[in-house]
Amino acid sequence: QPDLALKRRHRHFASPQKHYYAHPPQIERGYREHLFDTTGRAYLDMVNNVATVGHGHPRLAMAAKRQWSLLNTNSRFHYQAVADFSEQLASLAPEGLDTVFLVNSGSEAVDLAIRLAWAASGKRNIASLLEAYHGWTVASDAVSTSLADNPRALETRPSWVHPVTAPNSYRGEFRGPESTSAYVAAVERALMAMDERGEGLAGFIAESVFGNAGGILLPPGYLQAVYPMIRARGGLCIADEVQVGYGRLGHYFWGFEEQGVVPDIITIAKGMGNGQPLGAVITSRAVAEAFEQDGYFFASAGGSPVSCAIGMTVLDIMRDENLVQNAREVGDFLKEKLEDLANQHPLVGIVHGMGLYLGLEFVRDRESREPATHETAAICERLQSLGIIMQPTGDHLNVLKIKPPLCLDYESANFFVAMLDKVLSEGW
Ligand code: PMP
Repeated sequence: QPDLALKRRHRHFASPQKHYYAHPPQIERGYREHLFDTTGRAYLDMVNNVATVGHGHPRLAMAAKRQWSLLNTNSRFHYQAVADFSEQLASLAPEGLDTVFLVNSGSEAVDLAIRLAWAASGKRNIASLLEAYHGWTVASDAVSTSLADNPRALETRPSWVHPVTAPNSYRGEFRGPESTSAYVAAVERALMAMDERGEGLAGFIAESVFGNAGGILLPPGYLQAVYPMIRARGGLCIADEVQVGYGRLGHYFWGFEEQGVVPDIITIAKGMGNGQPLGAVITSRAVAEAFEQDGYFFASAGGSPVSCAIGMTVLDIMRDENLVQNAREVGDFLKEKLEDLANQHPLVGIVHGMGLYLGLEFVRDRESREPATHETAAICERLQSLGIIMQPTGDHLNVLKIKPPLCLDYESANFFVAMLDKVLSEGW
C-alpha cells in the first residue's frame, strides 16, 4: 500500500522534511548502486552520496551486526575502536592534522569546526561563500546562504557571519578560468571592510569544490590565494569535505587537494558512515587544545563502537574494492560521455565536476545562460519513469548533481547516459 504509507508520512512526519519527487517510489531494499521498490522494480541511484560503498553491502552489515551484539556505548568508556578509527582518519589527513573528534553528522562537524575556530583564534567572525550549504544546526545553518535551501538565509544570518562572493566561474559575477583574481579580490575587499570595522576574523569555511551550486570546480588557485589572507588575520581555514572529500573526486582523496591547499580544520560525514550517523572533525593538536580551555567535549553517540566499526569497515571496503580508483575511472568515462551529450543537446550548458561528483547544468540559451529550471524538474521526472533517481540542485534548481555510490559500474554509467540521451532527444 505505497500510497497509504505516503499519506501517513504526510500526516505525522513534519512537512519540512521533503521527499524526492511528487510521487516517489516506496523503496524497501538496496544493493550496490540500485534501489528496489515494493514491487521489485529497480532504480539506479545517481543521487546518493551517502552510500559510498553501495547499498546493502554484506561486509558492512556483518560488521555492524557483530559490533552491535558485542558492545555499543560512548567514548567516555575506553575501548579499542576509538583508538583504531582515530588513528586511521589521522593517517589519511595531511601531516599535522592528526587530532580527531568523532560526531554524528555533517552539521555537527561544521558546528564544532566553527567553535574550534572561535577558540583557537580568540575571535568570532566567520567568512563563508554565498550559495553554500553547510548544515542545519544553528551555527552550520548560519554559515549556509544557499537560497534554494532557505530563501531567507541572508536576512536571518547572525552578525558574525560574513558571506563572500561565490566563486562560480560559470554563472557568477565573474566568468571563465581567468576569473580567479576577480574572486580573490572580492574576498580581499570583504576582509578589508571587516578590518576597518575592527571585526576580528576567526575563520573561513568553504567546500573545495562548490557542491551546492552543482559540483563546480573552483577557479584555479582560488583557495591558494584566499587561505593566506585568512591566516594573515589570525583566522583558521575550514575545509568542509562532507560531500567532496573521502574519495568522491576519484583523482584525489580530499577535495582540497584539487586546489592544492591544506586546511587547518577538516569536516567529514555522509559517506564515511555509508548511512550510519557518523561525522568527524580532523585538526591539529594545538587547535584541539585551545578548544579544551573552554571545557570538555562529549557527543553521546560520537565515536560509538558501532559507528567506529562501520567507519573502519567502509575504509576497508574502499581499499579492497579500489573504490577511489573506480570513482576516477568510471567518473572520467561518464564525464566524457556527458560532454558528448552536451555537444548534441543545446539544453546542456556545461558539465561540471570530476570523479563521481559531476553536475549537468541546463540552460535555455548557451549565450545568456538562462537557467532551465522547469525543464530540469521535468527531466528528473522523466528519468524517474525510466528507473533513475536524480535531483535538481543549485540556487536556480537547474543542475542535475551526479553523485552515485562510488561502486557505480560501466554498465550503470552507460544506462544512465542512454536514458539521458533518450530524454533530451524528446525536445525541450
Ligand atoms: N556540509 C555539506 C557540504 C553538506 O552537503 C551537508 C549535507 N548536505 C552538510 C554539511 C550537513 O551534513 P548532515 O546532513 O550530515 O548534517
